[in-house]
Amino acid sequence: MLDNIKDAVKKFLGNSSYDKAVEEFIKDLQKALITSDVKVSLVLSLSNNIKQRLAKEKSPSVMERKEWFISIVYEELSKFFGGDRAPNVLPSKLPYVIMMVGVQGSGKTTTTAKMAYFYKKKGYKVGLVAADTYRPAAYDQLVQLGKQIQVPVFGDPSSKDAVGISLRGKEEFLSQKFEVIIIDTAGRHGYGEETSLLEEMQSIYDAVKPDDVILVIDASIGQKAYDLASKFHKVAPIGSIVITKMDGTAKGGGALSAVAATGAQIKFIGTGEKVNELEVFDPRRFVSRLLG
Ligand code: GDP
Repeated sequence: MLDNIKDAVKKFLGNSSYDKAVEEFIKDLQKALITSDVKVSLVLSLSNNIKQRLAKEKSPSVMERKEWFISIVYEELSKFFGGDRAPNVLPSKLPYVIMMVGVQGSGKTTTTAKMAYFYKKKGYKVGLVAADTYRPAAYDQLVQLGKQIQVPVFGDPSSKDAVGISLRGKEEFLSQKFEVIIIDTAGRHGYGEETSLLEEMQSIYDAVKPDDVILVIDASIGQKAYDLASKFHKVAPIGSIVITKMDGTAKGGGALSAVAATGAQIKFIGTGEKVNELEVFDPRRFVSRLLG
């Protein structure tokens, strides 16, 4: 993907005919986005936006036309990812309750701890709730991580009642004046029939009424991100997205599809296994990487 778009820009700048260069560049961009797992309908709407702006806006002199075109492409892609500025990741009110959702193995539990550490460092009083009652080791994993970052974890390994644990955890922390409460829910595998897990997700959402639902997706998820995010969004409206494993080779193109499916904003990216390897999402940097 990276190389594809870099090559496309190079080819575009070297092409002697502007109109032909624009046409070819849009085709190359579409191809690069599609091979990078961005949903076709989305690629088409992005390229239509670019074409419409080309038709509507007055182009500068011939000398500057190509740079102008590239800046339009850049702006349209940035806009899609949330504009020029980094997202506001601070709680919009206190106390603030976050519900984490995601497929198993996406890095949800790790990200839960990373976010707790992030907010703790910002000075908030943070509590974690272990409501993943499906994966046997999930409770222990969160307790371990909690110890590491010195953030208390509420849980009940003897109970399978994820809704009850979530509610009790929230109330317990609220009564102790905690400010940011993050609930780690069961990792759905997300594909095929799993109605009961989606029902549980909805029940937790309805009972807890979180201020934000954060979808954690692995950078390598690909096109599946669209259906997965839509499915989750129906039962627990997704407000934010975290892309994990951005330190790997996957470029995170699937994230575009998750954004399209939910209208949510990407807030953080995970860049490693350690609790401090979390960065606030930077749309400009993300797009710069795409455009080379
Ligand atoms: P969950 O099933 O979604 O809760 O996933 P886990 O939090 O247990 O993470 C699954 C694996 O991914 C673990 O080995 C994590 O250390 C790893 N992981 C999570 N986030 C990242 C990341 O940003 N980068 C890398 N390289 N590994 C990660």
